[in-house]
Amino acid sequence: MPTYRDEVVVLRTHKLGEADRIVTMLSRRHGKLRAVAKGVRRTSSRFGARLEPFMVADVQLYQGRSLDIVQQAETLGSYGADIAAHYDRYTSAHAMVEAADRLNEAEATPQQYLLLVGGLRALARGEHASRSVLDSYLLRAMALSGWAPGLSECARCGRAGPHDTFVAQLGGMVCRDCAPTGAARVHPETAALLDSLMAGEWGRVDAASPGSGAAASGLIAAYAQWHLERGIRSLSHVAADPGGDR
Ligand SMILES: [Zn+2]
Repeated sequence: MPTYRDEVVVLRTHKLGEADRIVTMLSRRHGKLRAVAKGVRRTSSRFGARLEPFMVADVQLYQGRSLDIVQQAETLGSYGADIAAHYDRYTSAHAMVEAADRLNEAEATPQQYLLLVGGLRALARGEHASRSVLDSYLLRAMALSGWAPGLSECARCGRAGPHDTFVAQLGGMVCRDCAPTGAARVHPETAALLDSLMAGEWGRVDAASPGSGAAASGLIAAYAQWHLERGIRSLSHVAADPGGDR
């Protein structure tokens, strides 16, 4: 029988008929998957809540002619409840899975899967500001997909930095010769925070001022909206203040 197993993060679900759902997942080895979970909306479903968004599961799939079919699902990481109980975690998780969905349209790698699992786990544990977890995820996920913003050299001409102007449309930090007239300057603390978010230096990220956190979030959001086709709709629901509920 043509079946296969993989570890997945559930990105989103759609209703199908009376009791079924189409589940869109990012898998560790098979890239993005869409599969039917039969009977999942019945209260007696053997899948329970294992195929809800943000859940990490080991699944067995049967290769169907058009869509694959989920045969089994075992929970590996149950982050949904801890994320859904906090609005800031929920909105950040939503933006993360939406970005993962966009970024893995063509090719997906185990690194993308592991980055998303790590991000959701960090949100569920509440170890850092949710917005910082999201911002770091967005920078690193875009970098894995070949969309890393330029943070040291000028993104347009390559001149060595540091530079003090960020222009999303030009690909990141740019020198003063390349910056359009009137482009806003980036405070050095904000520029340093962008580096720390990209590198996952959490000690520095957690110590950043709320002002530079909000400024970095704005730049990252603008960059993601510009470079990801159709943008990330759920980013508009994420609060700008990274100092919120931890
Ligand atoms: Zn330049």
